[in-house]
Amino acid sequence: MTASTSLSPETFWLQAERHLIRYAGGFVPAIIERANGSYVYDSTGRAILDFTSGQMSSLLGHCHPAIVATVQRCIARLDHLFSPMLSRPVVELAASLADSLPDPLSKVLLLSTGGESNEAAIRMAKLYTGGHEVVALSRSYHGVTQGSAAASYMVPRRGYGPTMPGSIVIPAPDAFRPIVVRDGVLDWQTQLDDAFQMVDAQSVGSLAACILEPILSVGGMIELPPGYLAALKRKCEERGMLLILDEAQTGLCRTGDWYAFQHDGVVPDILTLSKTLGAGLPLSAVVTSEEIEQRCHELGFYFLTTHTSDPLPAAVGQTVIQTLREGEMDKVARRLGERLRAGLTELRERHPAIGDVRGRGLLQAIELVGEDGTPASDYGAAVTQACFERGLHVNIVQMRSASSVLRIAPPITVATEELDKGLAILDEALSVSPM
Ligand code: PMP
Repeated sequence: MTASTSLSPETFWLQAERHLIRYAGGFVPAIIERANGSYVYDSTGRAILDFTSGQMSSLLGHCHPAIVATVQRCIARLDHLFSPMLSRPVVELAASLADSLPDPLSKVLLLSTGGESNEAAIRMAKLYTGGHEVVALSRSYHGVTQGSAAASYMVPRRGYGPTMPGSIVIPAPDAFRPIVVRDGVLDWQTQLDDAFQMVDAQSVGSLAACILEPILSVGGMIELPPGYLAALKRKCEERGMLLILDEAQTGLCRTGDWYAFQHDGVVPDILTLSKTLGAGLPLSAVVTSEEIEQRCHELGFYFLTTHTSDPLPAAVGQTVIQTLREGEMDKVARRLGERLRAGLTELRERHPAIGDVRGRGLLQAIELVGEDGTPASDYGAAVTQACFERGLHVNIVQMRSASSVLRIAPPITVATEELDKGLAILDEALSVSPM
């Protein structure tokens, strides 16, 4: 057996090819040896600006000293427990989350991944309402477990057999490529009214929930138009459905608010958090009201996994919240987001292929278009590659309906010089890549 550090690049890739199951197409062509702050470093010593924050999760940058200290302290003292056994980090994180959220969101379940948190939220909504039908947006991504995937229209469906009965889709409100137009702009209210007429027509009278992200990230960084979320909540209330908001990517300061739903002035019945909560470690949460929790408990709610209420990730979550609070990171994300937006807007003036700039705070994207305005997917892939070759990792969404959208989500700890450097690389990549 060979120590991993001694593998030559040739052997590394040979072993990877021999022994890894490919889970999402191909792999990034670099051996990543270490990561720190806004950078990852490959085996040649090359520094690559990580403007996807890992898998959109390393909110505080890589290997943040406070996270390192928490992990080192906890792994040596209290690592993992029998799931119904409680520890201080779990109760402290639950209290901190409740404290950071508006009423009535006060009850917390701690899990590991985003898919799991949505699975649990959907199960709670089913139990609470007695229904089973779940409405989701056409450009949604909520995870790959059965219930979450059934409500995800950006997760490949073909070839995996039946989906969950009662899965209902409504069109995402895409202002850049609107499907219902009045006076040249998206008429989201008519689109929503029409969509719910279709929901009612399809429903067997068993509506349980509507689940969505406040900004549809994988779906192409689609922001909800002002008023949309409030109108959607009314549609849910009229039908006795719960509103589940998935803030895997938008939660915890990244968009310039602690929670993106605060921007819309709407409080969900159930909130799920994941990626940013563990800042790179596997931690997720479901948060709901006392009333919903009580009813579900009475009905025998069960969602015990091996890692439910694990102390180590909970301690990390608590450190994340403390670090965000102490640094007033919502304000930092807003300020850096304005700089990022100004830079992207300036690039748009010089690169006609940038059709749109959208997103909020440190979760933004550009959409690349051809001369006829259609999505420029191949160009997007070429720009992404040119960025990578120049030391910047941004992410093209490799899904048909959003494959020309380049997502940019640097850590919230990014330095302004790093942000500017990333923008300069993007500028160069946009110029060198052929349309
Ligand atoms: N919700 C959203 C909004 C996501 O972006 C993702 C991951 N891309 C998930 C849920 C699923 O999270 P996980 O991969 O941790 O299960």
